[in-house]
Amino acid sequence: AAKDRGKQCMARYEPDMDLHSIEEARLGAQLRHAIDAGEMRLVYQPIVELPHGRIVGVEALVRWQHPQHGVVSPGLFVPVAERNGLIVPLGEWILREACRQAARWRDLPGTRSLRKISVNVSARQLREPDFAATVAGILHETGLEPHRLVVEVTETAVFDGGAALDSVWALHRLGVSIALDDFGTGHSSLGLLRTCPADILKVDKSFVDEVTAGDQDVIAAALIQIASGLHLQATAEGVETADQAEHLHRLGYRFAQGYHFGRPMAAENITELLQAASKAAVPS
Ligand code: C2E
Ligand code: MG
Ligand code: MG
Ligand code: MG
Repeated sequence: AAKDRGKQCMARYEPDMDLHSIEEARLGAQLRHAIDAGEMRLVYQPIVELPHGRIVGVEALVRWQHPQHGVVSPGLFVPVAERNGLIVPLGEWILREACRQAARWRDLPGTRSLRKISVNVSARQLREPDFAATVAGILHETGLEPHRLVVEVTETAVFDGGAALDSVWALHRLGVSIALDDFGTGHSSLGLLRTCPADILKVDKSFVDEVTAGDQDVIAAALIQIASGLHLQATAEGVETADQAEHLHRLGYRFAQGYHFGRPMAAENITELLQAASKAAVPS
């Protein structure tokens, strides 16, 4: 019966899908051109230490400056790039750009609190058999130490094991840190902690949203217990209010990220924040 239902659904959605696939082909073609045309850029969102809010990391997030449509969000074009395979060259560009910027920050005065840069990596990239070798090459080329790089993967990406999980292990052996992004929303969550060499759990915004009056925080509270029991670092994602930050700190969270601390911004703005904080800490 499920099979029949599936067939009916397919039939009903076919006209829509055709329209959609035309749009997708158009977007795909523009995307192919976008990397070479220099329309891609990275923004960086602070990852801070609680309770003081010192910036200890940044997450690189890609933006597409489309000549007609303005800034296109990755939620829209990353899935397209994953389906047509362009995420492989695009992801390589993103990694190189992020590592280059991280090496720059390492060498600038007044930016020492920044220890790590996080880069999102898709399942499609992890399934490339030489992905870890590509990362090693980029680290070598940019002069960035492996321990300064965090690769963010989703549970779903590594859930099936296979080549994606092999890549994660190879990255781990290189000395790159592994973060499980949107943790708690994917397929396997807890079982994955045994098979995947994770260093960081990024606790999904949906659980952080519940941390308000202090009595709705059951999952956020359980996840920090699991993380500390397994000696993993936990980062709360999508923290929007001072109230949430305070509650998360009380639950035991040491790291957080969200609009309350800083929106994704250009590299120069991160530099300014870092240098201003360093001056404030050490008056000269
Ligand atoms: P993500 O890796 O979970 O990134 C966090 C997303 O939440 C970012 O959206 C960020 O701007 C947003 N965010 C951060 N703090 C807050 C907050 O306090 N409130 C709210 N409402 N949102 C917040 P963005 O930049 O649109 O990226 C969306 C997703 O697209 C990312 O989720 C990631 O899965 C994917 N993505 C972004 N950049 C890349 C990339 O370079 N490569 C790959 N493969 N995927 C990327
Ligand atoms: Mg992420
Ligand atoms: Mg996330
Ligand atoms: Mg997310």
